[in-house]
Amino acid sequence: MAKSQGNGSGGRSLDAVIVGAGFAGMYMLYQLRNLGFSAKVIERADGVGGTWYWNRYPGARCDVESLNYSFSFDNDLEQEWVWSERYSPQPEILKYANHVADRFDLRKDIEFQTSVDKAVWDDNECRWAISTSKGETISAQHYIMASGCLSHSKLPEIPGVDSYQGPTYHTGHWPHEGVDFTGMRIGVIGTGSSGIQSIPELAKQAAHVTVFQRTPNFSMPAGNRALEADEVDAMKAIYPEHRQAARTSGFGVPVPLPERSALEVSEEERNEVFQRGWDSGNLVGMLLGFNDLLTSKEANDTACEFVRNKIRAIVKDPQTAEDLCPFDHPLGTKRPCLDSGYYETFNRDNVKLINLRRTPIEEITPTGIRTSDQEFTFDAIIFATGFDAMTGALVAVDIEGQDGITLKNKWQDGTRTYLGIMVHGFPNLFTITGPASPSVFSNMMISIEQHVDWIAACMVYLRDHGKASIEASQEAEDFWVQHNTEAGDATLYPLANSWYMGSNVPGKPRVLMPYIGGVGVYREECDDIVANGYRGFVMRDAREKASV
Ligand code: FAD
Ligand code: NAP
Repeated sequence: MAKSQGNGSGGRSLDAVIVGAGFAGMYMLYQLRNLGFSAKVIERADGVGGTWYWNRYPGARCDVESLNYSFSFDNDLEQEWVWSERYSPQPEILKYANHVADRFDLRKDIEFQTSVDKAVWDDNECRWAISTSKGETISAQHYIMASGCLSHSKLPEIPGVDSYQGPTYHTGHWPHEGVDFTGMRIGVIGTGSSGIQSIPELAKQAAHVTVFQRTPNFSMPAGNRALEADEVDAMKAIYPEHRQAARTSGFGVPVPLPERSALEVSEEERNEVFQRGWDSGNLVGMLLGFNDLLTSKEANDTACEFVRNKIRAIVKDPQTAEDLCPFDHPLGTKRPCLDSGYYETFNRDNVKLINLRRTPIEEITPTGIRTSDQEFTFDAIIFATGFDAMTGALVAVDIEGQDGITLKNKWQDGTRTYLGIMVHGFPNLFTITGPASPSVFSNMMISIEQHVDWIAACMVYLRDHGKASIEASQEAEDFWVQHNTEAGDATLYPLANSWYMGSNVPGKPRVLMPYIGGVGVYREECDDIVANGYRGFVMRDAREKASV
């Protein structure tokens, strides 16, 4: 075990530096410490929780059921924690993150209010030099990015975005003390999951809410409710089998897979299945009604029309209802949403929808927002405009691998990874839930645990075999990039302009970033690669130079 020590240039020397103290970074630290590695987590925030630290907007809650969206690595933790709601609210999830940190005494190895800004690979020493905002350069054999798929928030590219004189809030950076909108006239830009969760709550408080919608989304009722003690107990009694089923499932939640096509049943039967999905309050409830909704446009169209008819039935004003109906992408190809009264909110007198496809925003002004046909004055503007997803936090750090190549340059034409865990040319750099892994196409807890376990086992292997470094080979990376693309191309996902495809960031290459093969299939592939001597990876003995 390498002890934390000086590296000759005044900084420390560690086995691993982990970036981020969300669920991924916390579990990575827990694992590495237990395995006898010296490791530190560097976290920009002043607390743990990642997503649940930053996204404190009203209405924020998980949309994978809490009994699934929680750690499974420790039986006692799993048994002692009690979730209060089917989809627990952000404060409770943050409390859980803090509980995990305290329970496993993680804080002593987390350095808060510190950013990692730069990391440079030294090919002679087989170590990373990792520079922080505190002016320190830490030497580490392994550099682990647990920096989050949805942590790099972004403002809209709208002229005058900085000119507004009133208060602005991004859902991904919500003030800790909360915001009182009582009596205010507010504008909200964005109708993704964050907008759809927050708009009903904002409308209950503000005097008036104007919602600026560029693309309507498909949203289904969450059916959120308090959890009964006996259903929690029932789950706890079967947790081991339940979690195992989640690990081998498609989306990280055990749900039965359908066998029939939506096109081989009568319209009446199809609508009954869709109704059950709609009523299930499950994110994939409708999508898993039939086996071809993500692969056949014709089948998917039937589900789209079912949801559009729901919107038309809920929203009283026909024009508003039609404006809320998505027509430009198949159901599920932009991240579907679960809501609590979203469409109903547009029946309120104090809520107005602006369809930006008809009247686009021309600029943000010092007093509000001007569209092509109207000027709005607001007391506050809320940006629910999302994230530079999957890659934003990774390339925000200046990561320099072999031969001075940066990750940003390497990915300028599209992300390239092997398994979403490693990148050719960047030895000993691990990306938890990185691009081309199931990540955001899954219950993230399941994917985080699988990646952390894989990385920890890999580091033990290197240590036990006297290896200084591991790197994805060019051939393995090429194979995985192609496999990821082919898996995506067999689905409808490429038809949408989604953050999955990088379309929400101007100039970002259009690539389906997450892996759609399913978490169970993916796990088998990762295990098989290990069983075959880390197929596709090249290892070097200490200080041995090797051409890879
Ligand atoms: P994060 O939680 O994003 O943590 C990353 C951390 O890294 C952050 O704290 C950040 O400050 C830090 N960091 C990044 N770069 C640096 C740097 N250079 N230096 C220092 N620190 C840095 N997933 C689900 O499966 N189910 C859900 O219901 C669900 N709901 C979500 C709701 C919201 C509002 C959002 C935004 C996402 C949601 N997700 C959900 C996805 C969610 O991001 C993951 O479930 C999970 O929380 C990610 O954990 P993480 O540790 O990988 O990353
Ligand atoms: P998002 O899904 O990317 O939505 C951003 C919204 O802002 C979109 O409606 C987008 O419109 C709009 N927008 C961006 N730039 C704009 C511009 N210049 N003009 C007008 N509109 C603009 O981001 P998000 O809602 O924060 O969600 C991101 C992801 O985080 C989700 O998909 C989900 O994975 C996760 N999340 C989950 C939950 C949950 O329920 N648990 C809650 C929040 C977030 P276009 O669609 O036209 O680009």
